[in-house]
Amino acid sequence: MENLVIAIDGPAGAGKSTVAQIVAQRLAYTYIDTGAMYRAVAWKALQLSKFASEDIAAIAADIDIQLTYKNGCTFVQIDGQDATEAIRTPEVSKMVAEVAQIADVRRYLLILQRRMAENGQVVMDGRDIGTHVLPNADIKIFLTASIEARALRRWRELIAKGYQVDFEQLKADIACRDKKDCEREFAPLVQAEDAVFLDTTHLSIEEAVCEILRLCDKRISDV
Ligand code: C5P
Repeated sequence: MENLVIAIDGPAGAGKSTVAQIVAQRLAYTYIDTGAMYRAVAWKALQLSKFASEDIAAIAADIDIQLTYKNGCTFVQIDGQDATEAIRTPEVSKMVAEVAQIADVRRYLLILQRRMAENGQVVMDGRDIGTHVLPNADIKIFLTASIEARALRRWRELIAKGYQVDFEQLKADIACRDKKDCEREFAPLVQAEDAVFLDTTHLSIEEAVCEILRLCDKRISDV
């Protein structure tokens, strides 16, 4: 089996984790959801009511995050405790972009992320994977979709989980998170120069997966 490193970046709700997870499954690669790692730090900060940057950085420095994957789901353990659902609550979603702006938080998580990817055969998704975490990745994808489509996907997910959410409010929250992610000083969300732009507004999950697998095949046959 070829040893590719695949980086998938893009804004919230573009379908990155669903697509990345299926690509990883088809290639029998490891999938790494870096958003879950930032969410883990935000969740722990909320649990401990720590809101100062240096306190949140201290949390990131010694947090134990374990990511496992089963039946298309990412299971997250934080310091030995299951936090799979807890890191996806609207409260964590609201706070996470602030946490991700803290340079030391990014520095600590970057070390963990590079360590997780060091053996290759990996699909990693996030905001700065192609630009900062794995700049030498073999395949870089910038996955996006219209704000309407992205908000609708998140809204359906949250409703299915039993949350009461107002669509317009959710759309505004996502736009606000995107703005913070794009405008932050350290490792902002930006398309890497050598990334392939993939707009999923009118693509099914399977079509997006097939396009990425096609790029992998092409890469393998080119070398
Ligand atoms: O991917 P997800 O939407 O779960 O990511 C949550 C947040 O974590 C993002 O909005 C962003 O603020 C932060 N993040 C980041 N860099 C990454 C992955 C996520 O800043 N590589």
